Amino acid sequence: MPDQSPSRPASHSVTVERQRLRFAAGHFATFADELEPIHGHNYDVFVEVVGPLTDESWVIDFSLLKRLTREVCETLDHKFLLQMDSRTLTIADDDTHYLIQYRDELSYRLPKHDVAALPIDNSTAERLSQYIAGQVIASLGSSGPPGLARLRVGVEEMPGQAAWFETDL
Ligand SMILES: [Zn+2]
Repeated sequence: MPDQSPSRPASHSVTVERQRLRFAAGHFATFADELEPIHGHNYDVFVEVVGPLTDESWVIDFSLLKRLTREVCETLDHKFLLQMDSRTLTIADDDTHYLIQYRDELSYRLPKHDVAALPIDNSTAERLSQYIAGQVIASLGSSGPPGLARLRVGVEEMPGQAAWFETDL
């Protein structure tokens, strides 16, 4: 066995990624108070879980981790990703639509069934990875093994361009 550093003990992790862990979605992010034009990405999702080995030498069942992640992806697939906590957009809704206002320049009216209304301040890959991590953690809490240490989620907007969020469990 390799030496274990006292500050950072050796650990095991598993990863699942791409394949069916992806979603196609539209969005506009804001940057320096400017609003991007509506566009879309084929997002790929990566999940890494760090944890102790069970008696049978696994961290978490791959198929479980893929299923939990895929379930989150499915809620985002073919949706418009709307940052409900935006400080730049004014968002209202009625029974059937979201009404989105950007300054007095642009307004959008989107059917609710086409929108993933997300509790984030901006639809950046950084916030999307954090949101997905939160959803996966909630599912792991009810169906994952005990004792997992850390979760890391990546969201790749396009090949070679990804943002990551990681947190202790
Ligand atoms: Zn984009």
